[in-house]
Amino acid sequence: MNATERLIAAADAHTAHTYRPLPVVVATADGSWMTDVEGRRYLDLLAGYSALNFGHRNPRLVAAATAQLERVTLTSRAFHHDRFAAFCSELAELCGMELVLPMNTGVEAVETAVKTARKWGYRVKGVPGEMAKIVVAGGNFHGRTTTVISFSTDPEARADFGPYTPGFEIVPYGDLTAMRAALTENTVAVLLEPIQGEAGVIVPPAGYLPTVRELTRERNVLFVADEIQSGLGRTGRTFACEHEGVVPDVYLLGKALGGGIVPVSAVVSGAEVLGVFRPGEHGSTFGGNPLACAVGLEVIAMLRSGEYQARAAELGAHLHRELGALLGTGAVTAVRGRGLWAGVDVAPALGTGRQISERLMDRGVLVKDTHGSTIRIAPPLVIEKEDLDWGLDQVRAVLAGR
Ligand code: PLP
Repeated sequence: MNATERLIAAADAHTAHTYRPLPVVVATADGSWMTDVEGRRYLDLLAGYSALNFGHRNPRLVAAATAQLERVTLTSRAFHHDRFAAFCSELAELCGMELVLPMNTGVEAVETAVKTARKWGYRVKGVPGEMAKIVVAGGNFHGRTTTVISFSTDPEARADFGPYTPGFEIVPYGDLTAMRAALTENTVAVLLEPIQGEAGVIVPPAGYLPTVRELTRERNVLFVADEIQSGLGRTGRTFACEHEGVVPDVYLLGKALGGGIVPVSAVVSGAEVLGVFRPGEHGSTFGGNPLACAVGLEVIAMLRSGEYQARAAELGAHLHRELGALLGTGAVTAVRGRGLWAGVDVAPALGTGRQISERLMDRGVLVKDTHGSTIRIAPPLVIEKEDLDWGLDQVRAVLAGR
């Protein structure tokens, strides 16, 4: 047994099997590259599901984290700390909003948004008690808690976890007729991913998001954009909503907000919305801690320069040109996405997404399959063009059966 086999067997023996990772054991990482315990190098084309937009151990983020480790790391929200105000005000400004409610993981931001929308519905909109409804889209992925899986349409995510939380209505993603019909006087929010990530990088039809924006404004319903995976540069803009000229009422952010170092998430909105909370009504021991704020502040500063968004737009156009060319070969049946983010449907005859991912791993490229024969390509935004091209060469080789 080599070190890889030994470590995988040891992990299998002592953990719940909620994942089926590729058989690679990472020991170190830098930028877009990871090195395993055998000393083999891999190009990371997953980027921690977009948590690593700025690459592994980005020097600016490591410096911000290290400096904060030397000062104070956790106070709980029982006390103030000196990074909190800057983090909240600068994140609000980046989003063009007023208030920030910091949490840790993405799903906590989603849960917080559900609570926010319900409380806003009862206190501000005047929805009768216990009647609030939130409209979501089929194929969504918003996380793994019991309430959030209650409105998933993925049987694997839901089976045997009931009873489920009521108060959600599911409509097909991209279907405006269904959306229009679902909105009632008790609807408090529409919760959508502007591009559905886990579903296979599904971009909605042009005009969908702006019309949802119009409808929600007309009906006094909050438009909550889950930008946890799509936001913070990935699509070539700070927010995926920007491509359609849409400004939601609430942004949900996570993943890259913590720079791949610490879990940081946030609900960002206007004062009328997040202003509904009073002390004691919501909280988190770790939410908004000094280390999270220090890293988050550096992430915000980096995004403010626009350089990462520009890089994602430019390299993303190149990525989509190269992947689009594969459509003609018959190896690929569809390519979707925006910026440095692509869902590639591989012709089923070539193998499952898992098999393609394993073959890519053997060639030194790490990607993750999703839903059968789809692979997802989402490199760190700091990837060098030559490295991306090398990765694409490996994709072409695997799809050519080499
Ligand atoms: N929302 C979206 C759009 C996501 O892609 C994810 C994670 O993949 C989540 C929420 C949940 O985030 P977390 O895994 O940090 O709870």
